[in-house]
Amino acid sequence: MTDISSRALPIDDDLATVDHAIRTGHMIGGQWIESDETFETRSPLNWDSGPLANVSRGDAKIAAAAVGAAVNGFEVWGSWTAHQRAEVLHRLADLITENTDEIAALETLDMGFMQESMRARLVGRGAVNFRLYADLVVEHAERAWNAKNMDHTVQRMPAGPAVVITPWNAPFMLSTWKLAPALAAGNSVIHKPAEWSPLTAGILADLAQQAGMPPGAYNLVQGIGSEVGAALVADPRVRRITFTGSPETGRHIGHAAAENLVPFTAELGGKGPLVVFADADLEAAAHRAAWQFDDSGQVCLAGTRILVEESIRDQFMERFNHHANALVLGDSRRSDTDIGPVVHPIHLERIQSFVDRAVAEGGRIVRGGSPVEGSLHYQPTLIEPASNNAEIVQREVFGPVLTFQTFSDEAEAVQLANSTAYGLSAMVWTTSSERANRVGRSIRAGLVWVNTFLVRDLTAPFGGCGISGIGREGGDHALDFHSDLKTLMILDDTVS
Ligand code: NAD
Repeated sequence: MTDISSRALPIDDDLATVDHAIRTGHMIGGQWIESDETFETRSPLNWDSGPLANVSRGDAKIAAAAVGAAVNGFEVWGSWTAHQRAEVLHRLADLITENTDEIAALETLDMGFMQESMRARLVGRGAVNFRLYADLVVEHAERAWNAKNMDHTVQRMPAGPAVVITPWNAPFMLSTWKLAPALAAGNSVIHKPAEWSPLTAGILADLAQQAGMPPGAYNLVQGIGSEVGAALVADPRVRRITFTGSPETGRHIGHAAAENLVPFTAELGGKGPLVVFADADLEAAAHRAAWQFDDSGQVCLAGTRILVEESIRDQFMERFNHHANALVLGDSRRSDTDIGPVVHPIHLERIQSFVDRAVAEGGRIVRGGSPVEGSLHYQPTLIEPASNNAEIVQREVFGPVLTFQTFSDEAEAVQLANSTAYGLSAMVWTTSSERANRVGRSIRAGLVWVNTFLVRDLTAPFGGCGISGIGREGGDHALDFHSDLKTLMILDDTVS
C-alpha cells in the first residue's frame, strides 16, 4: 500500500531579522505618518514568538488625508508625459531588483511564502510588471483616422486617484501587478495592503519614493479592510478602484463603487478544474496536480478540483501520491522545504472546518486532512467528495486541499469543469490537439492552460468569469481601465 503522508521538518526558533527598515506607517503625500492605533502582524513561521511588527491602523481620517494627497499628486503625475512616467517606473523596477533579498526575506517572515520562490520568481516578476507597463504606455500610439470629413484621434486621459486594494497571498507581486498599470496610465494611487501581510508594501512605497515619484502620486495606507479600506472606496474623489481578494469583499466594494459611479475591477477567488484525459502525459499531469499544494494552496489560480478519466484512475492516483509524498513541509526559509505554513491560525481553522464539513457530508479523505502538530502547516489533503454538489467542490478553500473526481467521457469532463460559480482558471491535460481546442474552448474560465500552468505572456488578458471577477487586467486591458478614452474630432480644412 502507498504511504500517503508528507514529511514535516522543524522550524528554527530564531526569526532572523531582515536587512531593511520595517515601515509600519502610512505614506501620505510623500511623508511617513504613524497612527496612534496599531494592529499586530505575526510570522506564520513562528506564531508564538510574538508580533513581528505593530502596524499603523488607519481610520476614516487617514483615508481622507490619503485621498486628498492623491488628488494633489495626480495634478503633477497625471500631467507628466508617458516618457517621464516610464523613466520613474523603470527606476523603480531597478530598485526592486537591487532589493530582491530584503523583499523576499520580509515577505517570507510576514506571510510564510517560500523564500527561494520569492527570490527567484515573484520579486523579479514585480520588477517586470513595472517595466512592462512603462514600455506599454510609451509604445501605445494614439489611434487616428479620417472619416466623415473629420480627423478622429483617440486619446487616453489619466482618470484620477486610484484605490488599489490587495490580498494577503503573494502580497508583493500582486500589488505590483495592480499598481504598475495605474501609475503608468498617469493615475495617482492609494495602496491598501492586507492586514495579514502588510510589511513588504512599506518597502515598495519607500522604493517608489526613491525612484522619483512626486509627493502624493504614490500613497500607502495600512489598516483593517472594513475600516480604512471601506472609507477609501467610499470617497467620491476616487476615480478608479481595483481590487484583488475574496468575492465577499468584492461585493462590498462593488456597492461602494456603484454609489459613486466609479469603474471597478475585481480579481476574486477560484476553484479551477484540473482535467486529465486518458491520452495525457500522465507523469506530467500527476506531477502538476501534486504541485497544486504549492504555497500551501493559497493560490487563486490553483487547479483544486482534480478530474480524471475513469480508465486511468489508479495509475494517476499512484503517481499523484508519489509526488505528493515527496513534498517536505517546513521552514519557508530553508531550501530543503517545499511547503511553508498557512498565513494565520484563523485561516488554518477555516481550512480544517472545510475538511470537517466535507467528511460530515460523506466525503472520503484520501490523504492528509489535519494540521501538522505544533505549527501552522496543513497536511496536503485530497478528498473524494460525496457528490459534485458538496461544499468542498463548490467553494474555494484557499488551502492545500484538493478534491478528486472521475469522469467517463469528454462531455462529462466539460460539464464537471463548468459546474461551479467560479471561472478563473482551468487546466487540461491531453495529447490530442483536437481535444485541446475543443475542451479548452468549452470551458468557462478567464484562463485555460493545456499541458502547462501559471506562465503566460503578460500582455494577455487576465481575469475571471462568474464570481471570479469583473473586468480584465493584463497588457492594454489594464491601461484602458485606468484611463478615460476621449475621441477628438476636428473638421477638415478648418484649421491650418
Ligand atoms: P479579502 O477579501 O478578505 O481581503 C482583501 C483585501 O480587501 C484586504 O486588503 C482587506 O483589508 C480588504 N478589505 C476587506 N474588507 C474591505 C472593505 N469592506 N472595503 C475595502 N477593503 C476591504 O481577501 P484575502 O483573504 O486577503 O485574499 C484571499 C482571496 O483573494 C481569495 O479568495 C483568493 O482567491 C483571492 N485572490 C484572487 C486573485 C485573482 O487574481 N483572482 C489573486 C489572489 C487572491
